[in-house]
Amino acid sequence: QSSPMQIPFDNSYTRLPAALFTRQPPAPVSAPSLLAWNAPLAADLGITGTPDPQVLAGNTLPDGAEPLAQAYAGHQFGGFSPSLGDGRALLLGEVIDRTGQRRDIQLKGSGRTPYSRNGDGRAALGPVLREFIVSEAMHALGIPTTRALAATLTGDRIQREVALPGAVLTRVASSHLRVGHFEYFAARDDRASLRALYDYAVDRHDPSARDPLHFLQGVINRQADLVTKWLGVGFIHGVMNTDNTSISGETIDYGPCAFMDTYHPDTVFSSIDQHGRYAYSNQAPVLPWNMAKLASALLPLMPDPDAAIPDFTAAVHAMPDLIDAAWLRVFAAKLGISSPRPEDRGLISELLSLMQSGGSDFTNSFRALPDNDARDHFADRDAFLDWTARWHDRLATEPEAPALMARSNPAVIPRNHRIEQMIQSAQSGDMALFETLRRALSTPYTTPADTGLTTPPTAQEQVTATFCG
Ligand code: AMP
Ligand code: MG
Ligand code: MG
Repeated sequence: QSSPMQIPFDNSYTRLPAALFTRQPPAPVSAPSLLAWNAPLAADLGITGTPDPQVLAGNTLPDGAEPLAQAYAGHQFGGFSPSLGDGRALLLGEVIDRTGQRRDIQLKGSGRTPYSRNGDGRAALGPVLREFIVSEAMHALGIPTTRALAATLTGDRIQREVALPGAVLTRVASSHLRVGHFEYFAARDDRASLRALYDYAVDRHDPSARDPLHFLQGVINRQADLVTKWLGVGFIHGVMNTDNTSISGETIDYGPCAFMDTYHPDTVFSSIDQHGRYAYSNQAPVLPWNMAKLASALLPLMPDPDAAIPDFTAAVHAMPDLIDAAWLRVFAAKLGISSPRPEDRGLISELLSLMQSGGSDFTNSFRALPDNDARDHFADRDAFLDWTARWHDRLATEPEAPALMARSNPAVIPRNHRIEQMIQSAQSGDMALFETLRRALSTPYTTPADTGLTTPPTAQEQVTATFCG
């Protein structure tokens, strides 16, 4: 009953001007073996047959694949890198999914490319499994994200601080276009390529966009929506550089990402984010800066760029208010409020202050709000009871509050200490915790039977830093 894996490729990026990419086959590996396969996603993509580790690790090219590395630039922690690009990823090609949407299929960790600089083009097993678990959890949480189709061991070890098993992630995105793609061609003053990229991105993500300004506003709307959803579940991306900021509005490039356990706005996990540029509560304020970089890159496409500056500036300056409004919707829903009013901001902020001063677990405190023992999650019980009285008054006009809260406050998130434990056991060949996490996180709004997945870390279990892979 084993039939060869077939991917119904329908490629379009290869038809773009040559400057946008470099054709590059994956580099072979020793002994591919499949660790995880996302069968429902494969079905959505029209992929048939038995998942083939030789294909998924890059040893065999499937029919119709046209592997390429994309060129892009990016502002990394504020400084401009004019030439980044896919240094360890390859676009195999695109498919049209069941809903008619074009999706990229990419191998990550498939070997060196012309954009690799000093890197080895490889990915370690740990980060591959983290991205698999976290991106699929984000999807189940209802947050726009790239998806994970497969995780494949290469059979080779790669050198990091220590030698680690190498792996390849097969990743699916509604595209891998980033703000940095536009910056790359704008910085080179390559107007023809910039125009081709823009036309392509419009076609793929916003066919109704009338002009570059309108297109920019679409990206701003999607990113404002995305970042507030991150905040609502305590997600910290960790590396919100412009090369990791997608045009589609999907979460992309899970590196040292992490979910907060104890609520504190200054929380940072990424070992490379020394100054907290991308701390939990800096994520919303930093995005307009990224959008300003996109605005600058799109401006040359306007018929009269100088005359367009005020409108582009206004679009970027409007973003904080957009984010604020989206934030209010997200956090009001967590309190069971479906039609937020301006004064609800105070109610939300007071609750967050109580969590912060008392060191409450972000996820569990919100989830417990409807319970009789909710106060146990707050150090200052009297202040919490006082807050609860005002909250209950507010809910008088919100009959659907319990249902809204149940679908706005996850019971289970991918906690760092469980991810780390999962990685440790996977490195010694045991995928049981991976499967446990994967299953529970596929229905994150349902309380799992295994309380080990909802309990915050003990002091010894606590993960304080996460690393890029
Ligand atoms: P990141 O911050 O992981 O999104 O990566 C930033 C840039 O570094 C991108 O151009 C990546 O393709 C590149 N890169 C990251 N890791 C590697 C690696 N191991 N080998 C080659 N390039 C890499
Ligand atoms: Mg080329
Ligand atoms: Mg990246």
